[in-house]
Amino acid sequence: MRACAGCKRRDETEEFIRFVEFEGELLPDLTRKLPGRGYNVCPTYKCIKDFIKRKFRGRKNPDEIYERTVKALKDYILHLISLSHKTGITVIGQDEIKKLRSCEGTLILAEDLSPKTKERLKREEWLTLEDVFNSEEIGNALRRERRVGALFVERVGLGRKVYENVRKLKSLLSK
Ligand SMILES: [Zn+2]
Repeated sequence: MRACAGCKRRDETEEFIRFVEFEGELLPDLTRKLPGRGYNVCPTYKCIKDFIKRKFRGRKNPDEIYERTVKALKDYILHLISLSHKTGITVIGQDEIKKLRSCEGTLILAEDLSPKTKERLKREEWLTLEDVFNSEEIGNALRRERRVGALFVERVGLGRKVYENVRKLKSLLSK
């Protein structure tokens, strides 16, 4: 159990984003591996802001740290997608995703996919991330020559990390 350095709420360690002071910079430590003084913070704009105000009043800009965190999470998710793909837990493309039977996971829909297509692919039981990446970014993460508009990652193995981090990103973006 840890407590948020913004609101003091207590929860399991993996529910927070760890920040670390590293060579004078305040960095989001998404893999929890960087050395240095660490702080756990809820994945929300408000808690990041309150945390910065409390610990670094006037020395750090909350909006800058927030933007940096969103960017780092996006990059990390693309990296996790890439690794997940190699372990065979990804399903690519609308037709294949529609054929999926009941399984838990994360659905990633590109911002350049039509609204109608997005609605058709969504399912209640899935965590959906839409309009964050474009189909070129998703395609690149999968090392594909073509664009990929829809991607499903099963919630097994590395797919659990995808799920966990997508949930954090969604929480951060809903400010
Ligand atoms: Zn908090």
